[in-house]
Amino acid sequence: MAKDFSRTHWHGVPRQDIPWFPTVDLEICIGCELCFVTCGRDVYEIKTVDSGRLKSSVERPFNCMVGCSTCSAVCPSQAIKFPPQEIVRDLEKKHKIFKTVREEARQKRENMAASSPSSKAEEKPKG
Ligand code: SF4
Ligand code: SF4
Repeated sequence: MAKDFSRTHWHGVPRQDIPWFPTVDLEICIGCELCFVTCGRDVYEIKTVDSGRLKSSVERPFNCMVGCSTCSAVCPSQAIKFPPQEIVRDLEKKHKIFKTVREEARQKRENMAASSPSSKAEEKPKG
C-alpha cells in the first residue's frame, strides 16, 4: 500500500496548505520510471497512456517533501517542474516555523543521544 503523508504537518503547518509538489510535462516525459523509483514518498505512479507509452503521473502530491526537488534533478528529459523556492521561504516567515523547528531539533538530539552506541553500552548490565 502506498504511503500517505497528506495529513501530516510540516513544522506545524498542515501539509495540504502548502502548494509544493511536482508537475510533469507529459509531452516530454519519456517514461523512464526514474522519478518513480527515486521518490521514497510514493508521490508517483507510472501509467500506460493511449499511445501505449509509459508516462509518469503525480498521484499523491501532498506526499512530496516540502523543499525537495530530487526527482526534477535526475529526470533525463527535464519534464518535472516545481514552484519557485521562494514559496517555501515565504511559508517559513508567514508561519514563523522556527520555534517549532527548535523544539524538533531538541527532540532529535535527545533521540540521537539515546540511540548512540555509547548510550546503549551504558544501558547494558555490568558483570
Ligand atoms: S524521470 Fe522524467 S522522463 Fe522519466 S518517467 Fe519521470 S518524468 Fe518521465
Ligand atoms: S521532490 Fe522529492 S519527495 Fe517530492 S516527489 Fe520528488 S523525490 Fe519525491
